[in-house]
Amino acid sequence: MTQPPPITSLQTQSWVFGANDPTLGLGLTHLPYCAFQHPETGAPHLGAVIGACILDLHACSATGLLDESPTLAAACLTSTLNAFMALGPAAWSTLRTRLQTLLRTGVKQERKKTEAALLPLRDTTFLKPVAIPNYTDFYASIFHATRVGRLFRPDHPLLPNYKHVPIGYHGRTSSLILSGTPVTRPYGQSKPDPSHPDIPNFCPTTALDYELELGLYIGQPNPLGTPIPIDRAASHLFGVSLLNDWSARDLQSWESQPLGPFLSKNFATTLSPWITPMAALAPFRAPSLPRPTDDPQPLPYLLDPTDQQAGNLNIKLEVSLLTEAMQAKNANPFTLSRSNSSDLYWTPAQLIAHHTSNGCNLQIGDLLGTGTISGPSEDSAGCLLELTRNGAIPLTLPNGETRTFLADGDELILRAYCTSPNHPPITLGECRTTILPPNPNPNKPTNLPNKKTPNISRNHP
Ligand code: CA
Repeated sequence: MTQPPPITSLQTQSWVFGANDPTLGLGLTHLPYCAFQHPETGAPHLGAVIGACILDLHACSATGLLDESPTLAAACLTSTLNAFMALGPAAWSTLRTRLQTLLRTGVKQERKKTEAALLPLRDTTFLKPVAIPNYTDFYASIFHATRVGRLFRPDHPLLPNYKHVPIGYHGRTSSLILSGTPVTRPYGQSKPDPSHPDIPNFCPTTALDYELELGLYIGQPNPLGTPIPIDRAASHLFGVSLLNDWSARDLQSWESQPLGPFLSKNFATTLSPWITPMAALAPFRAPSLPRPTDDPQPLPYLLDPTDQQAGNLNIKLEVSLLTEAMQAKNANPFTLSRSNSSDLYWTPAQLIAHHTSNGCNLQIGDLLGTGTISGPSEDSAGCLLELTRNGAIPLTLPNGETRTFLADGDELILRAYCTSPNHPPITLGECRTTILPPNPNPNKPTNLPNKKTPNISRNHP
C-alpha cells in the first residue's frame, strides 16, 4: 500500500482557536461538514468544523469568499449538503482547498471576512446535514456475523452465502436522528412466554441494544439500470460518520423470519452531527481484510486491486456507557468495547458495487450503514447481543451495576478517531444518546394477559 507523503506541520496549522489541538482532532486536515441553526437568525446554515469553531459556509458565500466558483457559492447558501454533493468530486476538492487556504496559519488573505464567519462550536444546535433519500444497512463484519450466528446456529454460524455476497437490507430514513436526540424505549411484539404460549407479548422491549457502525454517504448517483463498477465505486462516496443502528433484540428474534428485521430496527438510527469527507480519510486507508486461503475470492464485479490494497478505512472505534448512577457520581463513561473499521470483511467500494450491480440506482445523499463493526476478539464486539451472549452473561460495570441490555437513563456513546505517525489525528462526530423510559402505553391491549413489564430500569438481572 502506498502511503501519501507526510504533511509538514506548517501546512497543517491553522490560526483558528483549537484547530492545532491534537486531542480535538478537528484541524485543517479534517474539516468535516455539518448543518446547524444559526444562533442569531435561527436559519439553517451549512458549516465546516475547525477547532473550537464552525466556519459558517453561508456567511462565506454571502461575503464573497467563494466568488471564484458561483456554483459552489450557491450550494453553500442551501440548508443541506445535497446541492454541494451534486457538484461532484472536483467541486468537493475545490471547496476543501479554498477553506484550507483561508484557515491556514500565516495566510492574511480575506482574514477579516473569514474571522467574521466563525461561530463557537460549543452549544451549537446541529441539524441533519443531508436530506437522505434512502438508507441501506449492510452486515459487513464477518466477526459480528460469526458470533451472532453462533448464538443461534452453533454448528454452522456463518451461512454459506456470507463470503460471496455483501448482505444488506433496506432501512428507513424517517427515523434517522442526530446525536443528542434521546431514544424512547419502543413497544413491540415478542415471542410468547411459556405461561401463555399462544399469545405473543406486546410490551416495551426488554432487550434494547445498540450497533456500532459507520454511515457512508453517497455523493454521486448512478442512473437506474447502470451499475457502478468496483474501480469507480469509491469516487461515489462523499464522506463518513458514525451510525448507531438501535435494535430491540426480543422484537427482532420474533419478527425476523422470513423477511428480516422490521420494527425491531426502524424506531431510531442515530447519526453523527458532522460528516468527515473522504479526502480527510485519505491518509487513513487500510488494505482489504486478508482472507484465509480457503475463503473464496470475491466475484470479479467485487474485486479491484486498488480496493484490495487500500479500500478499507483505518478508523478506531469505541463504545462507552454512562448509567444514571454513574452520572450521579460524576463517574467517567465505561468503555464497553474497542474495534476498528479495517476489520470489515467488505470494503465501502464493494458495498457500493454490490448495491448497484443489479442496476439499482443510488441517489445523492443516500446512506449506507456498514453493519455492526466487531473485531476478532470477544471484547471488540460492537453490540451487547455479542458482549452478553444475547443476555446470558451480564456485564458488570465498575460501580457494581450489571447490564444484559440497555436500561432507561443509560447514555450510550460511540466515538471514532484516526491516528497515524505522519498525520494530524482526526475525530469523527460522536453519537451520544440517552434512553428514555417507554411512553405510557396508549395501545394497551385488552385481550392479552395482564403481563407485568419487566424491571428494566437499573440493575437489570
Ligand atoms: Ca445494523
